[in-house]
Amino acid sequence: KVRVRFAPSPTGGLHLGGVRTVLFNYLFAKSQGGEFVLRIEDTDQTRYVPGAEEYILSCLAWCGLTPDESPVHGGPYAPYRQSERKDRYRTFAEQLVASGHAYYAFDTPEELDAQRQLIPNFKYSHENRLQLRNSLSLDAKEVEELLATGTPHVIRIKMPVGETIGFHDMIRGAVNFDTSLVDDKVLLKADGMPTYHLAVVVDDYQMKITHAFRGEEWLPSAPVHLLLWEYLGWKQQMPQWAHFPLILKPDGNGKLSKRDGDRLGFPVYAMNWTDPKTGDLTKGFRELGFLPEAFINMLALLGWNDGTDQEIFTLDELIDKFSIERISKAGAKFDFEKAKWFNHEWIKRSGNEKLLPMVKGVLETHGIRDVADDYLIEVLALVKDRLTFIEDFWEQASFFFIPPTTYDIEAIQKKWSDEKTNFFNTIIPALTTFEPWETEALEQYYKDAILSSGLKLGELMLPLRIMLVGGKFGPHVFDIAKLLGRDETIERMKKGFA
Ligand code: GLU
Repeated sequence: KVRVRFAPSPTGGLHLGGVRTVLFNYLFAKSQGGEFVLRIEDTDQTRYVPGAEEYILSCLAWCGLTPDESPVHGGPYAPYRQSERKDRYRTFAEQLVASGHAYYAFDTPEELDAQRQLIPNFKYSHENRLQLRNSLSLDAKEVEELLATGTPHVIRIKMPVGETIGFHDMIRGAVNFDTSLVDDKVLLKADGMPTYHLAVVVDDYQMKITHAFRGEEWLPSAPVHLLLWEYLGWKQQMPQWAHFPLILKPDGNGKLSKRDGDRLGFPVYAMNWTDPKTGDLTKGFRELGFLPEAFINMLALLGWNDGTDQEIFTLDELIDKFSIERISKAGAKFDFEKAKWFNHEWIKRSGNEKLLPMVKGVLETHGIRDVADDYLIEVLALVKDRLTFIEDFWEQASFFFIPPTTYDIEAIQKKWSDEKTNFFNTIIPALTTFEPWETEALEQYYKDAILSSGLKLGELMLPLRIMLVGGKFGPHVFDIAKLLGRDETIERMKKGFA
């Protein structure tokens, strides 16, 4: 059975790229009838940020990408937090020492710092490991003594020299590495916690993960993981891997970062995130007014397509069409205007049951309550096509709820004439009895009246609009009149005319 995992470190808010990794994992799992696991990789306590795990879970919930197994959903391979699995890792690290694939290293942080000072780009590797303090350079008795006296130490992988190792990436094809270029990564830290490298392999194995998908930035770690799978004797069970392309800055110049968002004025996080230490707020798509459907749809197309021109997909359609092989190797440029387009399209496609509560929320922030659903539904039908965000509803439709307080006088004043005054003096009273109060009938009646007064059609449409809404905007003016109703329309005309 297909089992995938998203394995974030709880170090802050979730960046677009992180959510896209979740999405691709989820889509693959669901398209294969498999399971999607959320595992929290919190072994680096120095980087742990309170609240980040809860934030990740609420992001997933908002996006509708619910894990089948997680620290809160539970599951057969619990616990799903690495800090709670701490005791499982040491045995494997020791096993690697015993088989000669790893070694104890006693170098103190100060000693390593001194090396870094001395040698630019210092790397602990086959080139210098025999000059450093570890179980490969010291004699056996000394090592025994150091261990017996509880000397702090780490366990490092012993990278082989001059071997080429590789794997088949589902997106990139064959990927190979020269082991001589990789340093001897720490596997177990002095505090007994595993590093990411050891923990990710042990957990993927123990949780029976069949496919491990992650961002391209993890590709350099792959040789270490490959060797661990082999040295621990689990190679047959190694998941299939794929490394997703980066999400790039809008100009294609490098990876999209948190700072780009601030600089270019768009969010890069799924939801608002406030750093608990600094109090700094990083803005999110949710709070800006994105529908989760639009957000997910937009993310899916950053690096993937179904081979046709189709751009709008529901989550179910994505599950249906998704395949890892159709993810591109090249980075995907982020385009905020396009992201807004997706939201616009999704608002257009959303039903009233979904939009009504949101629109009521917008009205409430402007002090407008208790509007009848029927009326709201009719207003929505008129302005829905004009919204990029739900908040735009106010700008597009406020005049359906409150009469204009200011008028774009300039737009009509310069061409005003006595004929126009006469026209309104006649039409306003006539409208009080005009039947039926329907869009087309009103339009016909109004236009006939213009023509019989000898004026031009175009000249009297704008004044009517400005009387009703205050400016040169809004949907079809007779739709507005129809919806406002006779009394309100006439009242606004009188007030606007005065
Ligand atoms: N803990 C890693 C991260 O923070 C996970 C990488 C992986 O999926 O192997 O992204």
